[in-house]
Amino acid sequence: MPDLLLLDSPPTFIAAPSDADVFRSPSRYLEGIWHTYFADVPCVNQVNIAYGQAWKNRLGSIRLSPDTTISFIKVNGLLQLPQIPDYILITTIAHELAHYAHGFGSPRPPLYQHPHANRVVELELKRRGLGETMRMCNEWVDSQWFASYEEARAADWPGLPAICRPPSH
Ligand SMILES: [Zn+2]
Repeated sequence: MPDLLLLDSPPTFIAAPSDADVFRSPSRYLEGIWHTYFADVPCVNQVNIAYGQAWKNRLGSIRLSPDTTISFIKVNGLLQLPQIPDYILITTIAHELAHYAHGFGSPRPPLYQHPHANRVVELELKRRGLGETMRMCNEWVDSQWFASYEEARAADWPGLPAICRPPSH
């Protein structure tokens, strides 16, 4: 099988400073997911990950620094809370890693015109054995996300670190 993702160097990780003690440490999840499902994808720059704001309409993002030396994955801050199933976090990180593998948010040449062209991310996750995890994630997000979001907001974001709280209006 021709494979554009052949391993030419083992993944290396530079953890965000001192997030190893955080509940659901994002760098530990990233490392585990990369080794388990994306081991053939070389890590060609520094990849950082952190929880970002509790966005209402976005679970994660990946962007590349202008000098291409750092890819930065941000994960919706709510995904660190115990009431959110951790397959949401796993699917979100795997989704961003699929973008990385496809050359979006990474120094690799882009394989497609658009990061979500023709459901390439979904197909990538299925191909890598994450189809059931993604299915559970989508089902939960469709049925629970907005209610969970509103519940957390109404309670003034219990358990959410200050940097992840959306500005109050
Ligand atoms: Zn995406």
